[in-house]
Amino acid sequence: MEERTVKHEHELYPMLSVEDALEHVLRAFHPLEPERVPILETLGRVLAEDIYADLDIPPHANSAMDGYAVIAADTTGAGPDAPVRLRVIENLAAGYVADKTVTPGTAIRIMTGAPIPDGVDAVIRFERTQQEGEWVDLYYEPPVGNNIRCAGEDVRKGDLILVKGTHVRPQEVGMLASLGCREVSVIRRPRVAILATGDELVDVDEPLGPGKIRNSNGYSNAAQVLKYGGVPLMLGIARDSVSDLTAKIRSGLTQGADLLLTSGGVSVGDFDVVKNVLAGEGEITFWRVRMKPGKPLAFGQIQAEVNGDLRTVPILGMPGNPVSVMVSFEVFARPAILTMLGVTDLSKPTVEAVLENEIRSKDERRHYVRVHVQEDGGGYRASLTGQQGSGILNSMVKANGLAIIPEDWAHVPAGSRVRVMFLD
Ligand code: AMP
Ligand code: MG
Repeated sequence: MEERTVKHEHELYPMLSVEDALEHVLRAFHPLEPERVPILETLGRVLAEDIYADLDIPPHANSAMDGYAVIAADTTGAGPDAPVRLRVIENLAAGYVADKTVTPGTAIRIMTGAPIPDGVDAVIRFERTQQEGEWVDLYYEPPVGNNIRCAGEDVRKGDLILVKGTHVRPQEVGMLASLGCREVSVIRRPRVAILATGDELVDVDEPLGPGKIRNSNGYSNAAQVLKYGGVPLMLGIARDSVSDLTAKIRSGLTQGADLLLTSGGVSVGDFDVVKNVLAGEGEITFWRVRMKPGKPLAFGQIQAEVNGDLRTVPILGMPGNPVSVMVSFEVFARPAILTMLGVTDLSKPTVEAVLENEIRSKDERRHYVRVHVQEDGGGYRASLTGQQGSGILNSMVKANGLAIIPEDWAHVPAGSRVRVMFLD
């Protein structure tokens, strides 16, 4: 840390480790209430009910192959040079039930998935047969049960199939459909209000006047909210004044936000008013976090009257620099959103990689370094994505991971093994 003669008020707060700061944040979040939704809307969300099977899947024994349904004992002695000939009495497609029963000397031509006809105890696939008119020559002696899928071999009626708390992936959606569930109960998505702050900001479609830049944070944060399963409420841009900021925050709260994210205005500049507004409007734990980028971070709760009810909403004031805000989101907002969604495993996939570049760090903060990581001969190799300034959004664009450099590593020589958290 550089020496300062004037101590700013917030510097009296201790600089927290990432873990301690995250613990503070997560204490304010709990799984939200459930809602019933069509099954395609359950993807990425958490089941709020146990799902039992009220039927066997498959509901009937069926053929695992296209071939001939036979009585195994009828094929005794069949082989590549010794076909056994049976009469074909029916042609059965999937989705239909056979009219006839297979009796000794007969077979039914059957397609994959079609129910096993009465009398049948084996199916011989086409490749081992030769049909001629109403006759089929079989070049194989199948064991009983050959190519027959039993009723209930996937799911048994009455069994608990999906447990409350399951994080739904495409395979769970398929299982729900299989079980005939049209709608199920899942934890609702959190509504996350996003507010960018700064007199210098204009929206994406506005002309850039002198001294102005576009609001990228609002959009990268909203995209992150979507990516992790929240619903973004776009509050736009607040100017660096207490009145505008207060008004915009209030509008987010009246729109029913479960979490409010701001970017910018939490540093030590003359116009960094976010922390003052938070302190005035609610209860604030303000700290600096021992990380880079993303040191200034304000977290607190704000109270608001929504439709006559007094609600307390957590607010995370993230830094303004485009990389800092995205890294802060990954580290703090993502776990908060997942917790509200009912997800319990908050970890991100990480790998150990060999770092191709040298890194120096002088201030004992945990470094989140933008890297591109790729597989290399059974291991992984990570290289810096160019300039690492916290304003260089391109370093995020080119990155697929963040290398996490521990606080006490002042010098990381090229070739060091580092932990890399995947961004995607
Ligand atoms: P601040 O923390 O408000 O001093 O902002 C730090 C830096 O991030 C400044 O250079 C800002 O112009 C920039 N910045 C702040 N908010 C945004 C935003 N929404 N989009 C892009 N850059 C921003
Ligand atoms: Mg600012």
